[in-house]
Formats: sequence, C-alpha cells, structure tokens
Amino acid sequence: MGRKVLVGLLVLVMLGTIAISQRHKILIPLITSGTQISQLLDANPVPGGQPFGDENHFSIVQLDAKTYAIAEPYSWARNVNYLVLGDSRALLFDAGVGHYDIRPVVASLTDLPVTFMPSHFHYDHTGQGTWAKIAIVDLPHVRERADGNLLQPTWGEHLGDGEGIDMPTWNVTEWVKPNSLIDLGNRELLLIYTPGHTSNSVSLLDVQRQVMFSGDFISDGGLLNSMFPTARLGDYLQSADKVLDRTNAMQEIIFRGAHASPANTIPNSSRDDLQTLRDQLIEIREGRLQGQGPYPVVYKIAEGMLLNTESAFLQNWDPTYPDDHEVH
Ligand SMILES: [Zn+2]
Ligand SMILES: [Zn+2]
Repeated sequence: MGRKVLVGLLVLVMLGTIAISQRHKILIPLITSGTQISQLLDANPVPGGQPFGDENHFSIVQLDAKTYAIAEPYSWARNVNYLVLGDSRALLFDAGVGHYDIRPVVASLTDLPVTFMPSHFHYDHTGQGTWAKIAIVDLPHVRERADGNLLQPTWGEHLGDGEGIDMPTWNVTEWVKPNSLIDLGNRELLLIYTPGHTSNSVSLLDVQRQVMFSGDFISDGGLLNSMFPTARLGDYLQSADKVLDRTNAMQEIIFRGAHASPANTIPNSSRDDLQTLRDQLIEIREGRLQGQGPYPVVYKIAEGMLLNTESAFLQNWDPTYPDDHEVH
C-alpha cells in the first residue's frame, strides 16, 4: 500500500473517531435551532384537568387528596410535573420545560414550604426561576464537581441551548442519597437511582400509595430515550431490574412518568410495561431485537412504546455503578 493511501486512511479513521466521540456536540445543534419550539396549537384537553390562569398553559389534575399532576399539554414534550404534599412540606418533582413559570401554579395549590427536585437535569424538567429549597440526588460523580452546595448541570446534562433555555445554577439545600427516604411529614418518598435515560435520573417511590414518580425512566408517552449524553443502556437495564425487584410486592403499582401521550392522560404505566421493557432490553443486548435506522436506532419495545438509542456498536452495556453500594 502506498504511503499516501496509508496516511489518507489514517486521517479518515481519526476523523471518524472524532465524529463518533463528538456526535452529540455535532448532532444536537444540527437538529435544534436554539429557539423555542412553538407551542402545540390544538392539543387534546387533559382528561379531568383544570386549566390554570389566562394562558391555559398548565392543566392541573388532582390525583388524590395530597397529590397533583401539573401537565403542560401545549408543550411539544407534553411534560407532566408532580406536586407531592405531606403534612409539613411539599415536593415538586420536575418544574416544566421552562417557557412558563410553574411557581404560581404551585402556590395556588399549597401553602406548605416547597422543595424542588428534578427527575434529571434535562432542561425540559428543570423549569425556570429559583427555589428556596432544592433537593438533588447525592451521587459521587455529581457531588464531586459541586462547588460546596452550588451545582450547575453540564451542557450534555441540560441541553437547554437547543431551545434557548439558560443553564440554571442550583443552591442545593438537600443532597439525597439513593435508597433513602424524603420525609414530607406523614408521607415518605423513597429515592431510587434509575439511570439509563441520563446518569443522574431518579425516581420517587411512594410505598404507601403504591405509586412511583418515574421521570423519563418509564413513561407511557410512547417514546423512551437513551441516546443523549450520559445515557447508557447498561444503566437502563440495571434500573429496570432494580425497580422490578423493589416493587415485587406491589404488583398493582402505577408509574407516573414525565411525558404524556398525545391523548394527554396523566402517565400511568404498569409493572407489566416495565417487565416488557426489561425483557426487550435483554433482546437488544443479545442482538435478537433489531432496530430501525442508522442513528438514532429506534427499537419497538411494545405497541406504542419505542426506544431511541445508539447504534449497536456504540451501545454500552456496562452499568456506571455496577454495585448499588457504590452510590450510597
Ligand atoms: Zn430527559
Ligand atoms: Zn423529558
């Protein structure tokens, strides 16, 4: 082989390696414009929902005496945020896509002091504005880069510049270790670390009510996603196994995910849905379930449930923390 051909091949390999390692930095600005994605004009009304304020952006559904879903039917992502009340304080799990301020909605529903906690750091869950009390999962890779209690998501964790949303800086008032309880006063939420969609994704399990607020880990919105920076299929499978194990005695548990389907019903996935996801992840890992498209690859998990993820040769099946003890 001639020397020039060899050098040419080497350059091609180098460029290919750079393109693969920088794929998110290259692709995300390409597929986003940096400006707000326009609101949906003719969204289905949220069943049982009470529209809030003049703008009607938010729609409130009371799930029980002390639990509210705050849906955003007109946002392209159809976000659903949850306000969980105890006797002494309230927890807001996700604060919306950030084009509208959810704080007046929350204030209309409770006088209790409110702690904000994101299910993960993607901009469509972190909302806008600041909160006096902010709870963040206490993970080694997150905590080590915090400046005292000040924490800013990384570009790849937040991705808000794709839609012109500024990066927040959080003054964390409560670092919550995985597998520990958040006490709201006569109501406890167990924080379960559920990475896979991102490396900082968490879910909150209400054992008494047999409900799990599951963020983007499992949702009935039709599309699961494990392709953005920090996503990892090995984590997704580990999370599915862990949650199935933890909920073994709660066969009727409802998973309240963070994105609604076009029908705008409040997400309510079942344990069977999670079992299907877990089984299909194994099929993907073993190469027995084929996806569509070069990048992202779309796998059909079940009727109405797709998974967007990396091409097979980029899939990482090693969990970030192979042993649950490493995170607490
Ligand atoms: Zn997300
Ligand atoms: Zn999301």
